[in-house]
Amino acid sequence: MKANKAESNPFELKKRFIPAGQKISNNSSHPPEYWFIFQDQKLLVKKEEDGSLELCTSSPESLGYKQIYKRFFGHYGNTPCFIAEIPEDSPLQNNLHFYGLRSLFGKIDEEHFNLAGRAIQVLHHHHEHQFCSRCGSPLVNQDSELAKSCPACNFISFPRVSPAVIMAVSRGNQILLGRAPGYPEGMYSTLAGFVELGETLEETVKREVLEETNIKVNNVRYMASQPWPFPHSIMIGYSATYDSGEIEIDPIELEDAQWFSVDKLPKLPSKISIARLLIDNFIKKFS
Ligand SMILES: [Zn+2]
Repeated sequence: MKANKAESNPFELKKRFIPAGQKISNNSSHPPEYWFIFQDQKLLVKKEEDGSLELCTSSPESLGYKQIYKRFFGHYGNTPCFIAEIPEDSPLQNNLHFYGLRSLFGKIDEEHFNLAGRAIQVLHHHHEHQFCSRCGSPLVNQDSELAKSCPACNFISFPRVSPAVIMAVSRGNQILLGRAPGYPEGMYSTLAGFVELGETLEETVKREVLEETNIKVNNVRYMASQPWPFPHSIMIGYSATYDSGEIEIDPIELEDAQWFSVDKLPKLPSKISIARLLIDNFIKKFS
């Protein structure tokens, strides 16, 4: 069976994003700025009358908020994007609310969600890296890139990205799906796990499937990736095929794992996740 790489990656931004520090071509248009305002790692959104949510792109100043942190983090097309953090005791206006970014998955515009994912990782890096890990001096923002540097010893602290693999394992017309504790009732998804030091991504796929379900796989093929800013990961999606073994789950990672036939699938993750993209890609081969 041939595994087809996803034709286009739906998790990519539609316009080019140019991170802070990189040159952009001069453009006479002055689009409004996008602000991503956070309070205690939660993002400011507007609740419309019909209950739908929308990113609040206004500046903290225009909303009357004091800022405790501000950073320009890049251009989305020609639109300058800023992160701001406001104090925890800032009063909220009527239709404005703070939500954890994860809970906004699929609820706000996908482009805004993607940009907010970038913003929150810069903010997270700022919070977690106040001081130089080499000499203890306070770090300052680098102008040339989204990093912080130490004026005393020149150490540079870059925001960290932790790669994780996620994989659709198939056996004929069956797919291996698992249930982790905390999943919505009845939902199963693809297996996933973090890359260990020194591993190739293909090795991670094989190790994770074996550790979690006792199944050996081969034909590990890259499919697509999705940024996963919770707090600083990227999901790298693969397909793989069954080689040998009987399912025996790791009870710490999983509640259950099963082979599901393509015509008898359980409740699946939402359409905007790479897990679902991988599963849909498997289903497509039989339709
Ligand atoms: Zn230092």
